[in-house]
Amino acid sequence: MQEIVKFIQDLYPTKEFVALHEPVFLGNEKKYLNECIDSTFVSSVGKFVDRFEKEFAKYVGSKYAIATVNGTSALHISLLLANVLKDDEVITQPLTFIATCNAISYCGAKPIFVDVDRDTLGLSPSSLKDFLEKNCEVTKGKCINKTTNKVIKACVPMHTFGHPCKIDEIKQICDEWNIVLVEDSAESLGSFYKQKHTGTFGKLGAFSFNGNKIITSGGGGVIVTDDENLAKRAKHLTTTAKIPHPFEYIHDEIGYNYRMPNLNAALLVAQMEQLDRFLENKRELAKKYEQFFSSYDDIGFIKEPKNSSSNYWLNSIILKDLKQRDSFLQYTNKNAIMTRPIWKLMNKLEMFKNSQSTSLDNAIWLEERVVNIPSGVTL
Ligand SMILES: *Cc1c(COP(=O)(O)O)cnc(C)c1O
Repeated sequence: MQEIVKFIQDLYPTKEFVALHEPVFLGNEKKYLNECIDSTFVSSVGKFVDRFEKEFAKYVGSKYAIATVNGTSALHISLLLANVLKDDEVITQPLTFIATCNAISYCGAKPIFVDVDRDTLGLSPSSLKDFLEKNCEVTKGKCINKTTNKVIKACVPMHTFGHPCKIDEIKQICDEWNIVLVEDSAESLGSFYKQKHTGTFGKLGAFSFNGNKIITSGGGGVIVTDDENLAKRAKHLTTTAKIPHPFEYIHDEIGYNYRMPNLNAALLVAQMEQLDRFLENKRELAKKYEQFFSSYDDIGFIKEPKNSSSNYWLNSIILKDLKQRDSFLQYTNKNAIMTRPIWKLMNKLEMFKNSQSTSLDNAIWLEERVVNIPSGVTL
């Protein structure tokens, strides 16, 4: 264990305390922030928001991108646009950050938990297929859950720690069962599956720019889609559903104040300019970790899955069992190396403990063993 701490300290020689992930501002951040302040357009309209949306859509290869105030709101609006209503059901994975399930709940819908694959840490297409075949039928174009008699409207897989899940297989199953695919790509900017950017397989994809993500706007998010109509609806709903008018306040439905302030977009435009450099750096770091841990029989390093290129946002290792996991967490954190266990499974939280689920063997196995290790860009 001592060697591991030493190895990580040497990766970050200038840090007394090594964080899991820290933002890095090496480009035009201050310049654009100053421009933004000088323009006085620091709030809900401004050229940096427009510029960011254009550049982001181009980068991921989607037709439209709509900036939001955070990733959770991007997910919330995406689900609303997938027509997720009160008392509907949404399939997702139990191994995810709480935001995925919160967004489902904001729509008044209930999550159903389907197991993950061990190699991707993401929603398992075979588990999804199995669940649908055993429990559901398509009636009048709707996917009906025979256990609850409710409609399953959407499926939200998540690309865990930036590793793409088997999204093309998931998409095919969703199409067959008339379920709208919404990707939680909050962690996977810069990650591709079969050369196509994550978040662009589904009808809608949501990204986050929280402070711990690969690039940050302080707080922020974005919705991507190829559907012009949905893109317009996303903009409308995130901007209080106001009808454009020279002076009158007319709103045609209950909207949300979910727009990204121009100030945050200014920071984000500068961060986007450095994304390729960050990605390169993070892949190098992952390679170093992979090599280092290859000499440990009882520790596995999680590599990018087959057919994909991962952003390696957060590196993670698989310990032997819960006991080894806990001693690893204790030792590293005591020695100023920040490490964290993977999330507690969503179905174990008070709010979701009565949710329907498949057997969650893989999720439980991973929950007991996976630990994130420092992954910030090394300078
Ligand atoms: C970060 C994250 C989000 C969104 O988070 P915000 O803090 O609201 O930007 C959603 N889902 C996952 C899996 C995340 O990691």
